[in-house]
Amino acid sequence: MTASTTTLERSPTGVGASIIKGYAARGSGQPLEIMAYEVGPLGDSEVEIKVTHCGICHSDLSMIDNEWHMTRYPIVPGHEIIGTVSAFGRGVRSLAIGQRVGLGWQSGSCGGCEWCASGKEHLCAQEEWTIVGRNGGWADFVRADARFMVPIPNGIASADAAPLMCAGTTVFSPLIHWGVVSTMRAAVVGVGGLGHLAVQFLAKLGCEVTAISSTHSKDEEARQLGASRFIATKNSDELQRAARSFDFILVTVPADLPWRDYLGALRPEGSCASSAYRRAT
Ligand SMILES: [Zn+2]
Ligand SMILES: [Zn+2]
Repeated sequence: MTASTTTLERSPTGVGASIIKGYAARGSGQPLEIMAYEVGPLGDSEVEIKVTHCGICHSDLSMIDNEWHMTRYPIVPGHEIIGTVSAFGRGVRSLAIGQRVGLGWQSGSCGGCEWCASGKEHLCAQEEWTIVGRNGGWADFVRADARFMVPIPNGIASADAAPLMCAGTTVFSPLIHWGVVSTMRAAVVGVGGLGHLAVQFLAKLGCEVTAISSTHSKDEEARQLGASRFIATKNSDELQRAARSFDFILVTVPADLPWRDYLGALRPEGSCASSAYRRAT
């Protein structure tokens, strides 16, 4: 979505917004309504950006409906954010006013623990999430710690960059973590939002990519994104016939799957990773 272009009221000091307007849900299943909220002075390490684009991730919907039992209402969703820096705190040295940046699921961390010190802030016990207890990007402006504002290269359009801030990194991260390289045969389970990106990343990486879905309805779509093979699992033995085929399988659907068949589809020393998350209820 493209964010509202509602005019912002600025604080007299010009160091940040005094009031931000966003689309908020006031309870589980409630419609989004415009809500104005006051914000205080910018912290020394904080950056405020004027939102130009923001994606819709399924986690936004899960949070609106409190599926994970951690929503604090009213909630302003949105964590695939692209915008330009409009203000920053006194301690920020890495960004400039007007610079285009992105912000994803994480907005803060302690900055001092072993995980933060080694560039693994997502493992920090004090990490802050963009739409949990704070207001997200379906708004005029959004704030976060400067370390989580990612400069966006000139060559990518904002509308294309926005989904990379959550969906993109969700499927790119496991490729790095599990050491996926171009000589590998990879499979992507699910051809939805995450799967679309995963197939493209793997194909661009040079892997032989197989898309796996319940039926062949997305066969052509997956091939256009870079898959060279397609397996349908419903009422078929195609997965079983792919035994010992893949060095890496990335699961992008939050569903119960025939795990024995998927693990059987791995080649020796292969890895199976899941990017899909569904909290037990
Ligand atoms: Zn930390
Ligand atoms: Zn997300």
